[in-house]
Amino acid sequence: MGEVLTRFCPRCRGENPYRRTHCVACGASLTSADDQSYADKLVWALGHPVREVRATAVYLLGMRRDAEAIPHLCRAFEQSPDDLFLQRDILQALLAIGGPRALSFLREQLAHPALVVWQQAERSVQLLAAGEGAADATATSGPPSALVHP
Ligand SMILES: [Zn+2]
Repeated sequence: MGEVLTRFCPRCRGENPYRRTHCVACGASLTSADDQSYADKLVWALGHPVREVRATAVYLLGMRRDAEAIPHLCRAFEQSPDDLFLQRDILQALLAIGGPRALSFLREQLAHPALVVWQQAERSVQLLAAGEGAADATATSGPPSALVHP
């Protein structure tokens, strides 16, 4: 995939390396758009004809951990019955976002006919269920002991 982080141009919707401030294709500013419109572009990119763009959008939406993206990811999942690896990536993004809506969709995919998909669903459900039970564990853990001076 090359560059992992991508910005979509608000004017021409071209794909740009994340560090760029202006679109390679049309020169529009990539940083003036506010955060929500960036999320909208990612959701729009879920329906992009180029598979790599769809996969990048799935990954970035997962990294944002924005629950608003969950219904869009679920729809993209249902619209990609022939792309099992994209479906798996979508389940990974839902795992990264977490919460009851993601968990409920992941549970539905336990009955998925494809191994690569239901195995990811199973792992994700286990991790999310464990995370809900141990939500306080992360809040009380301090810095790694190696960083604490005696
Ligand atoms: Zn552009």
